[in-house]
Amino acid sequence: LTAPPSDPALQVLQQVFGYPAFRGLQRDIVDAAIAGQDALVLMPTGGGKSLCYQIPAIVRQRQGKGVTLVVSPLIALMHDQVGALEEVGVKAAFLNSTLDFEATKRIERELLSGELTLLYAAPERVTNARFQARLDSLHERNLLALFAIDEAHCVSQWGHDFREDYLALSLLHERYPGVPRMALTATADAHTRADMVERLQLQDAPAFVASFDRPNIRYRVVEKSDPRAQLLRFLYAEHRDSGSLDAGIVYCGSRKKVDETAEWLQGQGVKALPYHAGLDSATRAQHQDRFLRDEGVVMVATIAFGMGIDKPDVRFVAHLDLPKNIEGYYQETGRAGRDGEPANAWMAYGLADVVQQRRMIDESPAGEEFKRVQRAKLDALLALAESTDCRRRRLLAYFGEDSEASGATPAAGPPQGGRAPSGGGEAPQGRRLGALYQCGNCDNCLNPPAVWDATEPARMALSCIYRFQKERNQRFGAGHLIDVLRGKATDKTRQHGHDTLSTWGIGKNVSETQWRAVLRQLIAMNAIEVEGEYQTLALGEAAKPVLRGDQTVKLREGTGEGRAPKLKTAR
Ligand code: ADP
Ligand code: ZN
Repeated sequence: LTAPPSDPALQVLQQVFGYPAFRGLQRDIVDAAIAGQDALVLMPTGGGKSLCYQIPAIVRQRQGKGVTLVVSPLIALMHDQVGALEEVGVKAAFLNSTLDFEATKRIERELLSGELTLLYAAPERVTNARFQARLDSLHERNLLALFAIDEAHCVSQWGHDFREDYLALSLLHERYPGVPRMALTATADAHTRADMVERLQLQDAPAFVASFDRPNIRYRVVEKSDPRAQLLRFLYAEHRDSGSLDAGIVYCGSRKKVDETAEWLQGQGVKALPYHAGLDSATRAQHQDRFLRDEGVVMVATIAFGMGIDKPDVRFVAHLDLPKNIEGYYQETGRAGRDGEPANAWMAYGLADVVQQRRMIDESPAGEEFKRVQRAKLDALLALAESTDCRRRRLLAYFGEDSEASGATPAAGPPQGGRAPSGGGEAPQGRRLGALYQCGNCDNCLNPPAVWDATEPARMALSCIYRFQKERNQRFGAGHLIDVLRGKATDKTRQHGHDTLSTWGIGKNVSETQWRAVLRQLIAMNAIEVEGEYQTLALGEAAKPVLRGDQTVKLREGTGEGRAPKLKTAR
């Protein structure tokens, strides 16, 4: 133990928590809070956010500055953290709905006497008049050391788990202006971040942004054909060791699909368990428990599963359905490999996913502005799924670790321990990844896909849709469109006289599978819109540049499809 007496923060890290050194940005964040400054902390899951406020809490308590209030929406996490703190001799407690009146009164007494170092509370507590009176009393005696707002993205409607209760947290600043605040989150795209800063009135607070890279996670997206069989092949190929499987999570888009998939996997001899909000709480708790304790349990779940689950050796996260956006994808895949050992993020993705997600947004009762944001977020995820270059770069670019800088190599090598950026002197914007950056640990880097230029077929498809719309005032689905493009006579093509269209048969040399890929890409790009019950196709906003030839369309060569098709030129 090497900390000099002049460095109380390092002393606490070593003597209380038993760690030799700060990680990444922790040092700077801790120093800011001890000095009484506000801070915005953006750090990926597993990055070590808790110590960022726990250490200042202890140091400030020792300086006689009183208690740190930690606002957290996750009851399970409060229990865990308070338990862990008590174990190392730190006086901590929580107030939430699981406590009876007696316990609540006892903790309030401890709070008022100034002996607590950390108090965890749910956000709704903060607006509670009784609790506010306690805070007022502490404030009058200068015994409020720090406010830590965990999962701070919950304050933003642009975030993926907005909580009404969080809006009231601006009250902390208004009512107790001199008390330093720290807002922490593992999830924040630029939009959410801006919103968070505004709502919590943290405009003047420095932002500490750690790298979001998780170098030990290998990202992979496969084209969906027979997803269950694909999943099983993946599990057998990469996660079976002497008969037993690794522990992992399989995310599905609906409760029904969770039940069916879990049952199917069980039938294949996999120790699979379902988890979703439709199961009673006893069953959920039991399944979660088995996942945490038993070896090799595969949890098949909706996104209801995972928040606050701290299982370090989850070896894979598989998505059988598309998440809603990149934040969701990042957070869900981020549950893999928290121990820093190699882990897989595997996703099966197909046209139906795109259509389904778009429709869910369209049909939701939310306002137009909100829907617009959701669509843009979905598009960013689709671009990631369709991408033929480094997926990690795309993922990190979304979180502001950008490629704009002039083709620079990563500023810092792979971060030590796979978490925060190396050293404390990192620029707060995170690192800059060059446009040619290759991570070497995603499917596209490991097996660069053969790419073909699908601009011509894309234009053919769009002009065919245009002909349907303009010449016949009709709309059709993907199947019929492909028949027309390939010149395949069917009852329907005859009935509509589509064999007389100028686009009839112009895409003969493109296989049906390739056509599906072209259409999927065009839909993902918003060059085609899918409408209504019959999923008919119409020209979308982004159709023009493709039709004009200003926008090229690149596709990966389909597996088993051989070479890129020879093409006639579009008329
Ligand atoms: P987050 O809240 O950001 O997801 P945690 O605060 O739970 O992350 O920390 C993740 C893990 O890293 C914990 O097990 C924690 O004890 C460990 N950790 C955090 N900081 C350090 C450090 N400086 N040295 C060693 N381990 C650390
Ligand atoms: Zn890569």
